[in-house]
Amino acid sequence: MTPFHYRCTDCDRTFERDAVRYLCPVCGASYHPGMPLTGVLEVVFDAEVVRRSFNAVSPDWNLLCAVEPEFHPPLPVGNTPLVPAKRLGTELGLPALWIKNEGGNPSGSLKDRASFLVVAEALRLGETQIVTASTGNAASALAAVAASAGLEALIFVPETAPKAKLVQMVLYGARVVPVQGTYDDAFRLSMEYTEARGGLNRNTAYHPLTIEGKKTAGLELWAQLGGQAPDVVVVSVGDGVILGGLHKAFVDLQRAGIIERLPRLIGVQAERSDAIHRYVQTGIYSDALNPNTRADSISVSCPSNAHGARRAILESDGLTLTVTDDEILEAQARLAAGSGVFTEPAGAAAYAGLVKLQAGANRLPASAKVVVMATGHGLKDIEAPLSRVSIPRAIAPTLEAFDR
Ligand SMILES: *Cc1c(COP(=O)(O)O)cnc(C)c1O
Ligand SMILES: [Zn+2]
Repeated sequence: MTPFHYRCTDCDRTFERDAVRYLCPVCGASYHPGMPLTGVLEVVFDAEVVRRSFNAVSPDWNLLCAVEPEFHPPLPVGNTPLVPAKRLGTELGLPALWIKNEGGNPSGSLKDRASFLVVAEALRLGETQIVTASTGNAASALAAVAASAGLEALIFVPETAPKAKLVQMVLYGARVVPVQGTYDDAFRLSMEYTEARGGLNRNTAYHPLTIEGKKTAGLELWAQLGGQAPDVVVVSVGDGVILGGLHKAFVDLQRAGIIERLPRLIGVQAERSDAIHRYVQTGIYSDALNPNTRADSISVSCPSNAHGARRAILESDGLTLTVTDDEILEAQARLAAGSGVFTEPAGAAAYAGLVKLQAGANRLPASAKVVVMATGHGLKDIEAPLSRVSIPRAIAPTLEAFDR
């Protein structure tokens, strides 16, 4: 493993690995739930060590992993397929278009990557209980990985989380506490719980290894494109940690001299959950009031990683945009029928954003190598698309009936 330290993304102070656990002790001191996190920590690897040891033909990603392999839980995550989407790409004027199908993870979403690394850290630290707040996917991911490692997962979710996600976490054996209210309410309660009762808190961006875990999706893109970064990555944004994680992947590769340019990151939010989008546009942060979108995984009033997400967009020369629920559900169907990738509404939001971008003045050039992140499996929430599909009626089992 490569030696690393933590760096505060706000004040640049650095800390030894075991001197801190969550936020920068200085910048995080004024943090309270209900505002975006301050003092989020970043893992900084010794880039010289990575540069010297990295083998582009068979990359060993443990060189960029913040927990030793001996502590990794037994449930493999990641290595999800990168699906070429030629037909959709032709429609959009982007012949080099791929879909990264994160539904292929064990619990069906990209969140497995973050949970994997935080559970590894819990095993290293000898913590037996891991606590999280979640809109649903982080919780089912934590429940799955904790089950594989024999640890206890304690989960606070909004009671409105899609049924399939709730079933997953219960069957994986987690202690599930549905909370009356929103994801932001569940987040606040989970923070109070770990402060008062202990356990390792896996809340997104609050635990720095959630960003490191999500980063692995970006590292894989480099390998799957034959040792090249894409030009553009399009991703849906809730708390802004997947976005931050993808950015970190490319920053790590750049620091080690493996890539030259950072891909442009395009962050897509739901129109009614748009705090990060407005923050990028105006430079002034304010909560999304009453977030309300069918894309439950990106429904958040106060995104934890708002500051980091904005930095990732600016540093990568990217942009953000918003899409409506109708555009999301339309894109979900289009993506499924046009590429074979069925992703939940939050995943489809990214594709909806790309469709919108290509229809406007800022369209990407045909030469761009573009990856759309399909962040979670479509079967996680069938209620949302059911409002728009009609399932054909049953016929008698005869050819006569078929012909009618
Ligand atoms: C969590 C999640 C997102 C958004 O990720 P953030 O890190 O919260 O921005 C998008 N899609 C799916 C399916 C998710 O589970
Ligand atoms: Zn700081």
